[in-house]
Amino acid sequence: MSSEMVVKPAEGEVFDIELEEDFLRANREIAEKVRRRLEKSKVLAIDVMGSVGSGKTSLIESAVEKMKHRYRIAMIAGDVATTIDADRVEKHGVPTIQINTGKECHLDANLVDKALSRLALDDLDVLFIENVGNLICPGDFPIGAQRRVVVVSVTEGPYMVVKHPLIFQTADVIVINKIDLAAAMEVDPDMLAKDALKVNSKIKVIKASAKNGQGVDDFIKALELEV
Ligand code: MG
Ligand code: ZN
Repeated sequence: MSSEMVVKPAEGEVFDIELEEDFLRANREIAEKVRRRLEKSKVLAIDVMGSVGSGKTSLIESAVEKMKHRYRIAMIAGDVATTIDADRVEKHGVPTIQINTGKECHLDANLVDKALSRLALDDLDVLFIENVGNLICPGDFPIGAQRRVVVVSVTEGPYMVVKHPLIFQTADVIVINKIDLAAAMEVDPDMLAKDALKVNSKIKVIKASAKNGQGVDDFIKALELEV
C-alpha cells in the first residue's frame, strides 16, 4: 500500500480526543458536587433543555406563576449573550441569575456551581435552570440537576426527536409545546411522543401550550411536585 492511502492523525489530534473525554469526566465530577450541594440545601433543580424558540422560558414562567405560592423558587438562565429570559422570569418576583456562556452552546456544571454561590440555597425549594437553546451537547453535560426536561415545539417540525435521540435518553420529561398550533403545522404530537418513548420508555410525556397555561399542571406533577 502506498503511503498516501494511510490516514494518520496529525500531531495533537489524538490528544484532543482524550482531552475531550477528560473534560466530560471532569464535568460529571463537578455535576456530582453540584448535586450534593443542592441536596444538602434540599433544593430540587430542574434542567430545562430545548432549542431556541421551543418555549423553555414560557414554560418556566407559567410554572413559576402556579408554584410560587407553595414553593420558594429561583431561576438560573443560560444564554450565549443576552439576559432576555432571566429578565422575563425575574418579573414574576423570583431571584434570577444569568449565565452568559460567550461561545459555548451549553451550560456546564462548573458554571452552574458558580451561579449557585449567588443564591441563598437554604432559602429555596425549587431551582429552574434554563439551558442554552440547543438539543445536542446539553445532553452530554449533566449539571447536577435532579430532573431533566426537554421542551420540543410542534413548530419545529415532526423530526425533532428522531434527529436528536441522545438528549431524550437521559431526560425525565418531554414537554411537547405549542400543541394549539399542531394542526396548522401539520405535526402530530402523538408521533413526537411515540418517538420519545422509543428512545426512552420511562420518559414522561406532557402536551402543553405553555403560553396559555395548558398542560402546566401536568408538567409540575411530572416533576413530582405539588400543584
Ligand atoms: Mg428562553
Ligand atoms: Zn455545546
